[in-house]
Amino acid sequence: MNLELTEEQSAVRDLAAAFTDREIVPYAAQWDRDESVDRAIVGKLAKLGFLGLTLPEEYGGSGGDHLAYCLVLEELGRGDSAVRGIVSVSLGLVGKSINAYGTEEQKRQWLPRLTSGEALGCFGLTEPGTGSDAANLSTRAVRDGDHWLITGAKTFITNGTWADVALVFARTGSPDAPDQRGHRGITAFLVPTDLPGFTRTEIHGKLGLRGQATAALALDAVRVPDSARLGEVGKGFTVAMAALAKGRMSVAAGCVGIARACLEAAVRYAGEREQFGKPIASHQLVQQLLSGIAVDVEAARLLTWQVADRIDRGLPFATESSMAKLFASEAAVRAANDALQVFGGYGFIDEYPVGKYLRDARVMTLYEGTSQIHQLLIGRALTGVNAF
Ligand code: FAD
Repeated sequence: MNLELTEEQSAVRDLAAAFTDREIVPYAAQWDRDESVDRAIVGKLAKLGFLGLTLPEEYGGSGGDHLAYCLVLEELGRGDSAVRGIVSVSLGLVGKSINAYGTEEQKRQWLPRLTSGEALGCFGLTEPGTGSDAANLSTRAVRDGDHWLITGAKTFITNGTWADVALVFARTGSPDAPDQRGHRGITAFLVPTDLPGFTRTEIHGKLGLRGQATAALALDAVRVPDSARLGEVGKGFTVAMAALAKGRMSVAAGCVGIARACLEAAVRYAGEREQFGKPIASHQLVQQLLSGIAVDVEAARLLTWQVADRIDRGLPFATESSMAKLFASEAAVRAANDALQVFGGYGFIDEYPVGKYLRDARVMTLYEGTSQIHQLLIGRALTGVNAF
């Protein structure tokens, strides 16, 4: 793998860095307190092409490879994980799934709207009763002529109250009778969120990502035409897992951004704060904390770039994506915790940013597969034994 960035990659990273410093960093603390990011950020992200990265230009995408995508997400994650998540979900989980599995009509219907920021997408897999065991979901879609009636509940859905289209996974067959290729009777649907029977309730009181619109979705016999089905009947779980395999790379890239923000804040503070007659940066144990964060940033970034490189070269990447997500999310939590230590008591109040980094980092080890689920995925790849 060539670790030198191309001119285009450097340019997109610089664009994202300047955007983050100008449009996100000055507002992130207030959005966190308000429990709402300013929605105008969506149009601004779209204007720079960040909601269309890696998608074809004919559907409004701005092209770019997956490494460029990671560079942008690292910068956005450095500014505010809540903003990074908007892109990771609307583009990463929904737009990319439509591009990979959609009909020509579905691509023309949704991709230009998603890439221009006119519409946002959300990804509805998790349910109140099924989180890690997502294949066991119980939302049902029943065929009604050339339509489907979808009934069920989803929870913890990022972008949920903001989204115009929900990628909903529903059972259309039995979980006990997967077909010969292991598909488990789940089908994916693109459901406009303004349809009758579709209700959304914002989830408040989150520990982190407080600025992000996270919602519970309820679907009561929501009627969609068969043309809203994404991919084949009974093969929706493949759509979900393919989306998450790439999505985990984007979470990892965002975690690199959090860890970098922690490092930059802690190094700055350690140079300014004096104790025992000298800057705390000159105490060896403080340098130990800083050096640990720096190594985590580099290691997490290299694991993440490896995934992007493998995707761009058409190589298998699912296990590498699990490794990157597992390592980077745990590294972000460590980085934020150690940065808070460097800040001492000042890290504990929200006048300084490290407390928010810690709260935002914490969920990274939970969503898109908990750390335990990634350990099991990696373990299965190593041993061939399914230990779920
Ligand atoms: P559970 O699955 O109940 O897990 C609880 C604990 O048990 C964990 O420690 C887990 O690791 C452990 N565990 C479970 N099974 C095993 C096992 N076999 N072996 C060992 N340990 C195990 N979901 C979406 O579909 N779309 C979204 O946009 C989305 N956004 C989210 C945003 C936020 C802020 C949050 C908090 C969650 C979001 N999620 C979303 C849901 C997220 O993916 C789930 O929370 C996650 O998959 C874990 O499921 P759970 O919370 O039900 O935990």
